[in-house]
Amino acid sequence: MGQNLWINGESVECDNYRPLFNPFNGEKIADVAEASKEDVIKAIDSAAGAAVTMAEMDAHKRSDILRRVAELIQEDRDECARLIAEESSKPLKAARGEVDRTIMTYRFASEEARRLHGETIPMDAAPGGEGRVAYTVREPLGVIAAITPFNFPMNLVAHKVGPAIAAGNTVVLKPASQTPLSAYKIASYFHEAGLPAGALNVVTGSGKSVGDVLIADDRVKMVTFTGSPEVGKHIRENAGLKRVTLELGSNSALIVDEGTDLKKVMPRIVTGAFSNQGQVCISIQRIFVHEAIAAEFVSLFIEEAGKLKVGDPLDEQTDLAAMISGYDVTRAKAWIQAAVENGAELVYGGDSERQILKPTVLLNAKLTDKISCEEVFAPVVHINTFNHFADAIAKANDSKYGLQAGVYTNDLQKAMQAAKKLHVGGVMINEIPTFRVDHMPYGGVKMSGTGREGIKYALEEMTELKLVSIKLD
Ligand code: NAP
Repeated sequence: MGQNLWINGESVECDNYRPLFNPFNGEKIADVAEASKEDVIKAIDSAAGAAVTMAEMDAHKRSDILRRVAELIQEDRDECARLIAEESSKPLKAARGEVDRTIMTYRFASEEARRLHGETIPMDAAPGGEGRVAYTVREPLGVIAAITPFNFPMNLVAHKVGPAIAAGNTVVLKPASQTPLSAYKIASYFHEAGLPAGALNVVTGSGKSVGDVLIADDRVKMVTFTGSPEVGKHIRENAGLKRVTLELGSNSALIVDEGTDLKKVMPRIVTGAFSNQGQVCISIQRIFVHEAIAAEFVSLFIEEAGKLKVGDPLDEQTDLAAMISGYDVTRAKAWIQAAVENGAELVYGGDSERQILKPTVLLNAKLTDKISCEEVFAPVVHINTFNHFADAIAKANDSKYGLQAGVYTNDLQKAMQAAKKLHVGGVMINEIPTFRVDHMPYGGVKMSGTGREGIKYALEEMTELKLVSIKLD
C-alpha cells in the first residue's frame, strides 16, 4: 500500500516514500509519503486558500460536518481500531477504546461549534464608557499547524482537528511518522463529510523537516503540538509571535493513603500504570503509598500485574504489546538498570522479548533516578512509601513535570489539601492520574506544557477575541 499526502482535498503523490513497519511483528504495513519542503508549502497554500471559506461557513454547517465525521468513524469502528493496533501496537481492546473516545471528541466538537459565542460588555461600568453597546465575538485564527504524537494517533488528532474546524479554522496536520495511516483515514472521513477542499491537509515526513517549514511560515497563525518536551521547547523557541499550545510529557504521581480499599482500586491502578505499555502522557510512573499499607499494596499490585496478558496487539485478549521502538525498550531497560545499581529493588519484570518490555515494578528508587525524575514512557512504575501525607504531596511535586496527579484517600481534609497543594494541571481525587474524558480541561504546568485542550478550552485557544463597541447618539 502506498500512502500519498492529502492536500487540497486530493491524494497527492510525492518524490519519496518511506516503509512503515508494524512494531510488534516487523512486517511492512505501507509506504508512506515523505513530504518535501515544497509539498509542505503546497499544503499551507491550500489551507490559506480555504481560510476565508471556512471563516464564512455557518456554525450549523461546521457542526454537521463534525457530527458526520463521528458517524463515519462509528461505522468503521473495527477497521479504525485495527489500523491503530497495526501501526502503533496498541492492543485491540485499547484501540477500540480510543476509537470510541475519538467519536466522542468529534461529537463534542460538533456541539461546541454551535455554542461558540462572545458576551456583552457593560461599558458604562467605567466613567467615560457610557452610551455604548459593546460585545465580543470569537473569530477563527486562520491556518493552524497541528503536530501529533504516536500514542493516541486518532484521538489526539481529534483534539486538534475537531476544535480547529469547529471554530472555522483550516489545518495542516503533521501526524507522528509511526502512526500516519489513522490520520489519513480521518482526512478521508472529513472529505466524505463535505469539508471544503483545503480545510484539512495532512503531510507526513520527518518531524523536524516538516515541522520547521510549518513553524517558519507566517501564514500559520498557531502551532498546536502534543509530544515530547524537547520538541515542544524547540517549537516554542522558534514560533515567534504565533500562538502555541504545548501538551507535553509527565512522570505522573499517585498517592495512596492508609484506609484505601486496596483490593477494590488495584485493577484500576495497574491499568493506569501499564495501559498502552505505559506510553500514555498521564501513565502512573511514581506511586507513593502510606507505609502502613505498603507491603499489602506491593503484593496486590504484583498479583494484579501478573494477570496482564502480554502478546500480539491484534489478539482480543492482549493487555500489553510491543513498545513503539526497539530504541525505547533499550532506553527503559538502561534506566531500570541504573536505578537498581543506585539501590532500587526490582521486584517484578524488567526483562524484554523482541520489542515487548514486561510490566516492571521497582521499590525505593531515588527521586533523582531517571526512572523517577524523567518521563519513562514505558511499562515501568516505582513504589515508594510515606509517613506523613504532606511529605507525599511534596514528593509528588518534586518533579519538573506537572500534568495530572491522583490521590486515594478517605480523609476529606487530606483530599482538599492535595487539591490545593499539588502543582499540576489536574488533580484526580479517588482516581488514578490517568483519568481523562474528552471535554474536561486538560493540560499541564511546568515542563508538561502550556495551554489547555478539551474541546471547549481548545476552542478558546484557537480563536481570537474581538471587541465591537458601538457608540450611540
Ligand atoms: P515526539 O517525538 O515529540 O513527536 C511528536 C510529534 O512531533 C511527531 O509528529 C514528530 O514527528 C514531531 N516532531 C519531531 N521533531 C519535531 C520538530 N523538530 N519540530 C516539529 N515537530 C517535530 O513525541 P512522541 O514520541 O510521538 O510522543 C510521546 C510524547 O508525547 C511523550 O512525551 C508524551 O508524554 C507526550 N504526550 C503528551 C500528551 C499530552 O496531552 N500532554 C499526550 C500524548 C503524548 P516524527 O514522528 O516524524 O518524529
